[in-house]
Amino acid sequence: MISGDMSQSTHSDNNMTEASKTENCGLFWFRHDLRVTDNEPLNTLARDVNCLLCVFVVDSRWFKASHYQSAHMGEHRWRFLMESLVDLDEQLKQRGQQLIVKYGEPIAAIGDLVIEHNIKHIACNYHSGVYECQQWQRLQTQFPFMKATTGESHSLFTNSQLPFALTDLPDTFTPFRKKVEMIDIDQPMQAMDVYPPTPIRFQESWPTSLPQVVASDAYPRLLGGASAAKSQLKYYLFETDYIAEYKQTRNGLDGWSFSSKLSAWLANGSISARQVFHELKRYEAERTANASTYWLYFELLWREYFYWYALKHNSQLFKVEGVRRKRPLTTFAPQRFAKWTSGTTPYPIVNACMRQLNATGFMSNRGRQLVASCLVHELSLDWRYGAAYFEQQLIDFDVASNWGNWQYLAGVGADPRGHRQFNLQKQTQMYDPNERFIEKWQGHSNTGPLDDVDYADWPISWQ
Ligand code: FAD
Repeated sequence: MISGDMSQSTHSDNNMTEASKTENCGLFWFRHDLRVTDNEPLNTLARDVNCLLCVFVVDSRWFKASHYQSAHMGEHRWRFLMESLVDLDEQLKQRGQQLIVKYGEPIAAIGDLVIEHNIKHIACNYHSGVYECQQWQRLQTQFPFMKATTGESHSLFTNSQLPFALTDLPDTFTPFRKKVEMIDIDQPMQAMDVYPPTPIRFQESWPTSLPQVVASDAYPRLLGGASAAKSQLKYYLFETDYIAEYKQTRNGLDGWSFSSKLSAWLANGSISARQVFHELKRYEAERTANASTYWLYFELLWREYFYWYALKHNSQLFKVEGVRRKRPLTTFAPQRFAKWTSGTTPYPIVNACMRQLNATGFMSNRGRQLVASCLVHELSLDWRYGAAYFEQQLIDFDVASNWGNWQYLAGVGADPRGHRQFNLQKQTQMYDPNERFIEKWQGHSNTGPLDDVDYADWPISWQ
């Protein structure tokens, strides 16, 4: 999937001008905030400097298999990300700037630019990922005299708005929701009309060595970028009024009407949760406010909860015993895992969901719950393999929401009940009574026994 190396990956005209040596030059590091509106640290930085570099680093590590056998980035999200970057570049160009895309190890790539352009001030948005936090720390350690600022544009609330210290974040969602629900949510910040100029003229600011993008028409409406995000929000609220029935439809498995489909844009920050929230408020004021419109906010609060949960628990988010420090009894059966990932388990509803995920990069919330429950309870596998596979496959992967939800379903996280096993047959009757979804995604094909070798076959003869 990866081709070339970083040597050709820089702009063709990278000589620092005399001006940039003396000017107050800033660097904005885009990560999961791929937009110019409601991007407070970008605006703050742009006001503080008189030349600016806008940078995104494609981390070469994303495409390599982790020890859970999956890569961090699969092809669906990669395509979506590339589309989002193209759109961001366009937004920046309209404001006299452009996006510089680097490919490689982020600290080395950013560090090179800092030295090359004598960067005095660097800024980014706060990230709840442990790895991303460490990168930011390392950068500051490496360049202690550079001004480094962060903003909080990924969440609905800022840390200082929370009515409790992060260490006192409630262990479960409901008390969190009750404490934060009434907080006023800031209006999204307008984009600036013009940014300070880039210090050098980049004729080619994107590496030629980026991994290939695989074209997909699997879920055609999921097109990356802030422009598409705004269209989807408008579509789901004002064009179709689907939102007015959301509470009744949100457990659907397939189609465009049952839920907002905003997650992928929210995850990479093509749109902010505050933008969604305030459009929702406008819809309520102009059209209707009901239990369904409230419920979309309720789900954004789930996203919010997991954001703060990830920040509070750090690396505990990725540990098998979870934040409850309760190690589940599990083993690793590679064949079972392979059947789960390929959608060839004895459970047609699970197979259909997994095939949908593999083909499109998307799976409904109900589907995610069912396949996670299956992996944990029916297949008795280590939940982290499931989480890592989702990380690779999901177009909307978000470190906090993914690993937080997996912990929840594995009984080692924020679920007050601590054990939630879905009856797959009952769930099929409820959510796919005519098996249309199963038929569409061929959930019945290739199903067989879970294990090819059962106890009756032991011991295997070695002759
Ligand atoms: P809607 O139903 O329209 O909800 C609106 C928004 O609310 C979503 O876009 C999302 O931002 C947020 N939201 C909704 N449900 C949840 C939830 N349970 N937890 C956190 N936020 C929520 N969501 C991700 O964005 N990224 C992930 O990596 C991710 N991994 C998940 C893994 C598992 C095992 C489970 C059970 C859920 C996961 N979710 C994740 C949450 C949820 O399934 C998706 O956000 C949702 O299905 C996306 O579709 P939508 O945008 O149409 O959601």
